Parts: sequence; C-alpha cells; structure tokens
Amino acid sequence: MSFEDKTIIVTGGAKGIGAGCAEVFHREHGNVVVLDVDESAGETFCELLGDRAQFIKCDVSREAEVEEAIEQAVAAFGGVDVLVNNAGILQYSKVTDTLEEDWDRILDINLKGAFLCAKHAIPHMIEAGAGIVINMSSVQAFVTQQNVAPYVTSKSALIGLTRSIAVDYAPEIRSVAICPGGVDTPLNRAAFQQSADPDRVRQETIDLHLVERMAQPDDIGELVAFIASEKGSFINGQPIRIDGGMGIKIGGSK
Ligand code: NAD
Repeated sequence: MSFEDKTIIVTGGAKGIGAGCAEVFHREHGNVVVLDVDESAGETFCELLGDRAQFIKCDVSREAEVEEAIEQAVAAFGGVDVLVNNAGILQYSKVTDTLEEDWDRILDINLKGAFLCAKHAIPHMIEAGAGIVINMSSVQAFVTQQNVAPYVTSKSALIGLTRSIAVDYAPEIRSVAICPGGVDTPLNRAAFQQSADPDRVRQETIDLHLVERMAQPDDIGELVAFIASEKGSFINGQPIRIDGGMGIKIGGSK
C-alpha cells in the first residue's frame, strides 16, 4: 500500500478522522497536505508528522481559498493523486427548528466543500491520467437517527456526488464514499458534552455498535488508504460502510 511519490490532500485533517487518514497515508510514504480552518491544530499536527506533510489554512466552503490551497499543494508536491473530502460539521436539529443560516453553513461545508475541492483537484488528476476522490459520508445516510436533518441531508447528497464523479471521470478517476458509524473524535466528544449526561450519551452511542465500541480515527484511515491504493482499485462509485455493525443493529437490512 505504498503512496511513495503520491500526494494526498485531506480536508479537515487537523484532527479526528481526517488526522487519522493523514497519519496512515503519511506512514505509507505519501506526501500529505492537510487543509483545515484550525490553523493551530493543523500546524502542530503537520509538524508532528514531519517531512512530507504540509498544512494549508483553508475554509473548504470558499472557492477562492480552495482553488488557492490546491494550487499550493500542487506547487509543493507536483500534483494531487488522492483527495479526501473529510471536513464536516454536525448540528443537532430537525427541519422545523433549523435556521436557514445553519442549514446553509452545514450544507456549505459538508457538501459544497467537497464539490469545490473536487472541482479544483480533478483537473490535476486528469492531467496525470489517474486519481481518486474519497468523500466522507456517514452511516446516517442509511440509518438515520433523529434530530440531524441538515447533517443527514448533506451526507446523503455526498453519495450522489460520489456517483457523479465516478461516472463522469471514469476510467481514470475513481470516487468512493466512506460511511463511518460512531468515531471517537473531537466532533463526537463535543456533541456528548452538549448533553445533560455526557457519560450516558457516550455509552448509548457505544451500544449502537455490534462491536461494542466506537471506531478510532485510524480505523477509518486504514480503510480510506486501502481504497485509495492499487489494492482497492476495483472499488468505485459507491458508499462503503465502516460502522462496527451499527447499520444492521439499528436499521435491520437497510
Ligand atoms: P472533527 O470535528 O473531529 O474534525 C473535523 C475537522 O474539520 C476539524 O479539524 C475542523 O477544524 C475541520 N473543519 C471544520 N470546518 C471546516 C471548513 N469549513 N474547512 C476546512 N476544515 C474544516 O470531526 P470528525 O468526527 O473527525 O469528522 C470528520 C468527518 O467524518 C466529518 O465529515 C463527519 O461528518 C464525518 N463523520 C464523523 C463521524 C463520527 O462519529 N465522528 C461519523 C460519520 C461521519
């Protein structure tokens, strides 16, 4: 699974799942470019990774920033072979209590951000004759819990974006959506803290999984790297669940 001489862009890679993906690609000898709004965490993380890791501050929902960041990544490492559209935010709300500005912010980061990064990375992949776009969806696109309407909408739409990229740019470019269950990350830890009883909510989340634990970020990173590697080269255009059995536990055969 060597990524020697390959360049991997990971959005939202300063922490959580994105950092888990960046670590695995870096361990497998890839050049890793982390795009994130959290400058402090991103700089620190890339310094820890060392050589072949670069942080670029970028809000994925802003096209000018995305275009500039991808040009910087290409200038630094000569191309972009893998794009991991991972940046995402979560807010608990149902349709009737979602403010228009919150809907826009969630869709702008989770969905438009993936579109913008793909729009500006794919031409470099076409030029190189190969590439892969991996979109971080969620098992919630299949088994939907209550009170996450804008999030679920964005994660479901990412599966459509994945299919479109796969059919529009085949055979050179592949696209795959990853659908994790609960992952132990700052996003989830912050969500637990917002509840009246964080320990109870954490345990309830663990109990949703047949494997009786949440994933760690590198569980997801290992799958993403496998799919992006030659070993995963027959996987294309579809969502892949990595959910510890959460989908079948709460959703039956869905
Ligand atoms: P996290 O909050 O721990 O990390 C997300 C990172 O994205 C942060 O570093 C944050 O600064 C960055 N980010 C936020 N807005 C950004 C923007 N506009 N531009 C660039 N970077 C931005 O989240 P996580 O749990 O690691 O989740 C990563 C992805 O995986 C998200 O898309 C999330 O929806 C998805 N996901 C998470 C879980 C889970 O249980 N944690 C499950 C399924 C899917």
